[in-house]
Formats: sequence, C-alpha cells, structure tokens
Amino acid sequence: MKGQKPTQPSRRKFIVQAPIGAAALAAGITGAGATAAPPPQPTPTPTLPPLPYPPAALAPYISENTLSFHYGKHHQTYLNNMVKMITGTPSEKLPLEQIIRAAAGKPDQAGLFNNAAQVYNHTFFWNSMKPGGGGEPQGKIAAMLTDSFGGYGKFVEVFSNAALTQFGSGWAWLVLEDGKLKVIKTSNADTPITMGLKPLITIDVWEHAYYLDYQNRRADYIKAFIEKLLNWSFAEKNLAG
Ligand code: FE
Repeated sequence: MKGQKPTQPSRRKFIVQAPIGAAALAAGITGAGATAAPPPQPTPTPTLPPLPYPPAALAPYISENTLSFHYGKHHQTYLNNMVKMITGTPSEKLPLEQIIRAAAGKPDQAGLFNNAAQVYNHTFFWNSMKPGGGGEPQGKIAAMLTDSFGGYGKFVEVFSNAALTQFGSGWAWLVLEDGKLKVIKTSNADTPITMGLKPLITIDVWEHAYYLDYQNRRADYIKAFIEKLLNWSFAEKNLAG
C-alpha cells in the first residue's frame, strides 16, 4: 500500500475496477463437446478502491494489523460476494449506490444489499479518517456543529454515545438532513443513503474494527477516532458535494 496517492473513492470505480470474470469462466468450463474449449482461468480478484493512506498510517490508534485485515479481508470479501451476486445480471453495470438503493428493503435481495452496502460503508469509513486528524474543526462545519448540537463538545457527546450504544454490529454517522447536522446509528450493513440522508462521517463499530487493538474497550476506540483520526475535510467535501 505504500506510496499510494490519496484518492477520493469514485463510486463508479467500484464497478469499473471489479473485473467480472465468473460468466466468462463458466462459459469456458461448460463447453462439453466443444473441440477446443479454452482451459479454465482463475477467477480474477475484484479490486477495491485503494486505501487513502498506507495501512500503518493510523497507528497507534488503529494498528496496521487491524487495518490490513479490515480492508484486505473483511472489505474485500464484501466486494467479492457482491460481484458474485451481480455477475450476469443487469446490476453488473450499475453504480454501487444504485445497486444498494435497488436492493434495500427487499427480503429476497438481503444478501446483495448487505454486501453492497458494506462495500460502500467501508470505503466511506476509510475516508472518514486520516493520519493527524481529529479534534475540533474550523470553518463551516464548526458553525454547523454549533447550530445543530450547541457546539463541538456537545457533538462529541452525542456522536460518542451513538457509537457506544449501537447494540451489536453497526455504524454511527454524522449526516446532513434538511440543512442540519444529525447523528444516527445503523445496524449491521444499514446505510444512510437509503434513508434520504447525506452521510458526512462514519465510524465502524463492528467488533472487527477495533477488537485486535482495544479488545472490548469500544469507548477508547471511539475516543481515539474522534480525537486523533476524524477527517473533517472529508466531511466538508461531502457537505459541498
Ligand atoms: Fe468493518
């Protein structure tokens, strides 16, 4: 991961960067009777958008070990699963957000929703952090925190509480709703983009996000996220976007 340029995730890229090879592979191995069927090729691994920083860059608050597993195994698996489910279907060509919105609330598409939303949520989470981040923001966001919560201190209290009290797996989010900032929490893969809300920042509170570094001390992980990692410039960008 070293030497990667910090890049903003293009949602379109999720699909563009995910070579869909299962259909071609199937065509190659089901050609019984064909005289010159090509040998089966290994299914290519779909590609995630790169992390916006090297995997050791958030240490000691999030270790390289945690980030490597979280991105390379958890996030990658969600993408692999999603790609398997959409290969050969009309969804194959859709942008990620459209796949998520189309599958939301449909029991027969729960698997696709969960995996696609987790691909989106994790990319959003990587960008919600940066080395040397955290602390009180300046400018427009600071004014909006005051307007919506009564100040930065109050925001910290509300956001920490949401992240801490999300029972089981899920996420806490800072979102924009009708011109005001708001904190919400979501369970499992649920994501504010299906709720008419614009996400600005998120923290992953699934245990896999912090257990190697903090064991059961979720509160310490949340505190480190807010004080040392939170990427307010990403929130500003989302606000403007
Ligand atoms: Fe996660």
